Amino acid sequence: MNVKFAGLDIGGPQFTVIAGPCAVENEDQMLQASNAVKTAGAHILRGGIYKLRTRPDAFQGLGREALPIVKAAKAATGLPFLTEITSASQVESLSEVADFIMVGTRNMYNYDLLKELGRARVPVVLKRGMSAKLEEWINAAEYIARGGNDKIILCERGVRTFETATRNTLDLAGALWVKQRSSLPVIVDPSHGTGIPALIPGMAAAALAAGLDGVMVEVHPHPAAALSDGAQALTTEQFGAMMDRLAILGKACQRPVRA
Ligand code: PEP
Ligand code: MN
Repeated sequence: MNVKFAGLDIGGPQFTVIAGPCAVENEDQMLQASNAVKTAGAHILRGGIYKLRTRPDAFQGLGREALPIVKAAKAATGLPFLTEITSASQVESLSEVADFIMVGTRNMYNYDLLKELGRARVPVVLKRGMSAKLEEWINAAEYIARGGNDKIILCERGVRTFETATRNTLDLAGALWVKQRSSLPVIVDPSHGTGIPALIPGMAAAALAAGLDGVMVEVHPHPAAALSDGAQALTTEQFGAMMDRLAILGKACQRPVRA
């Protein structure tokens, strides 16, 4: 079922692009990233407020301090905003700014959190667990749907394999397999899926050509200075070039990217 929200029809003819920094760091960084992705044609702004990092000494996100920064970025761009929820206790505070709530890869199996989001009415982007089988991912979505929330978008973000050249192994075939067996829109995150900026535009183009419903990519005005995932961030220029490429391909595939 398409997710119709904030003027968007995700799963409909338009290919949906979600873009922004891995994490909200400060107002300058967020406004620069937000204005650039809006200008290039992104439909939804992203930015982590609570970050689940592999190392406990890494930047954990601004938490509530990010809320006024996000409000400023939304006001400047008019874009809806997506952010990750890491605990059920955040549902209320995130609702101040979040139009879409993301369940990250580490929480796909957090069934209590999924049940809580089933009771909420906010659209949920459910990432695939990094070692989740496709059926497990579909079942996780069912936990949300059973609560009465039918606004669910699935997001393939790569899985762990023996291969380490790419950060994860982006399973485009798996994403398409799920798309053909479920009524839910399926998007792809080639930023976490590859970890390599030079691979991201190609994988986004492949997702569009395959008939998937959108992409989510990380964009930072100064990737070298990013507090999280800088190595995989696209510069604003690289993101603009990717959008130009997707727009051309979208015309050929009847999946328009820009209105
Ligand atoms: C993210 O999108 O910022 C993120 C943390 O992704 P994942 O849960 O896929 O690692
Ligand atoms: Mn990230």
